[in-house]
Amino acid sequence: MIDAGMDVARINLSQTSLEEALARYERIRAAGLAAKRPLGILADLPGPKIRLGAFEHEVRVESTQMIRLAPGDGPSTEACFTVNYPTLLTDLRVGDRVTLGDGSILFELTEVHDDSFSAQVIFGGLLQGRPGLHIPSDRLMLSSPTAEDLRLVDAFVDIGVDMIALSFVRSAHDIRRVGLEPAPRGPLVVAKIETRSAIENLDGIVSASGAVMVARGDLGSECSIEDLPHLQKEIIGRCIALGRPAITATQMLESMITSPSPTRAEASDVANAVFDGTSAVMLSAETAIGTDPVRVVATMARIASRADQEFDHEGWAPTIQRDRLQEPLSVDAAITDVMTMATWRAASDIGVKAIVCISRSGFTVRAIARFRPNTQILGFSPDERTVRQLTMSWGATPVLIDRIDDMESTLQRAVRQARDAGLLRTGDLVAVLAGSSAASGMTDTLRVLRCP
Ligand code: PGA
Ligand code: MN
Repeated sequence: MIDAGMDVARINLSQTSLEEALARYERIRAAGLAAKRPLGILADLPGPKIRLGAFEHEVRVESTQMIRLAPGDGPSTEACFTVNYPTLLTDLRVGDRVTLGDGSILFELTEVHDDSFSAQVIFGGLLQGRPGLHIPSDRLMLSSPTAEDLRLVDAFVDIGVDMIALSFVRSAHDIRRVGLEPAPRGPLVVAKIETRSAIENLDGIVSASGAVMVARGDLGSECSIEDLPHLQKEIIGRCIALGRPAITATQMLESMITSPSPTRAEASDVANAVFDGTSAVMLSAETAIGTDPVRVVATMARIASRADQEFDHEGWAPTIQRDRLQEPLSVDAAITDVMTMATWRAASDIGVKAIVCISRSGFTVRAIARFRPNTQILGFSPDERTVRQLTMSWGATPVLIDRIDDMESTLQRAVRQARDAGLLRTGDLVAVLAGSSAASGMTDTLRVLRCP
């Protein structure tokens, strides 16, 4: 999958035990080190995700059939589905409609008993593994991060994970409660936008997070499905304006779980996410349980890079300013805006062969990547975790540099290193972009020079 184009591997912690997940982490890390380019690892916290107990074998439920739903931690059987939500019987009511999976199976609660609900299936389908059960988030008596999430965060921070995703975020406060130090000291925190409250508090969440995921699976159950494409554009636009990578996720090539080629609609969906400005496109079930994960990754990579070729680089930059938040900018943010805008102009007007960014935290790389310049972005950092985090940024080639000392000698070393690696040739025009102080959070230096 790395050879086929995977830049980041997500470990979905709602599907495995901690021990299994840590073992998987080590295997992915080893594969990443063996590969010729950096690989990011994203640990995705379950959050208050409600799931059915595991089915030992596949169960098909038919429309109009009656089923039983009971709180509990045991396995699900055909006769009774268990739900890992103790207050199920009091938080839900007869008449509620509940979906399973990403909305593929729908049923209505018809009767409440001492220990369970009876429900009638409205749309049936196949159940396997541990399907998620969607309860509208304003009914949910749980918040994110859960105590279990915080335990998982500790374990993954200890082993040096690159990014941590927080599920069912409702406000910026949820992100602060994870208690992680800002990058590069801590992992990049990815806020998954999948509740109504998150849409209402989007600005605060984007500002408080390191990156954002348009989590279309759960978001599509929380909002009207016709709103989803527009929410996707809105969320991506705000993230990119603020220099936060945006991930578009779920059902991107869903049919490839079983089929060798995607539907035409899926191919268009991946390309359109690129046109919306997404930094990353994500696969879930396609690679987790699909028949040919490598083929899916290769297909997605081909569709995404073809879309990149068609991308309107010239028309994109003005949208950044339009999408900039209404609140007045800090001086540091305004300086970064001006410097990165000038760099984008250098790329489009004088045709520099590369934008060389020197950055400890990756801030400068993300600040220029949002402009989608029509040239390669080389993101140099002395921090290995930053290098792996930059795999998520659009168009960036992350490169490890041994150290950052005074700016002049660092930029000379970076340009020579890029030349020796075959990324630049002697005589090429290069724009070098950096923050002059070690305290990240501002990009204030731009130099244009010829590669020696
Ligand atoms: P999940 O998140 O796969 O962890 O549920 C993504 C989504 O909801 O789309
Ligand atoms: Mn989700």
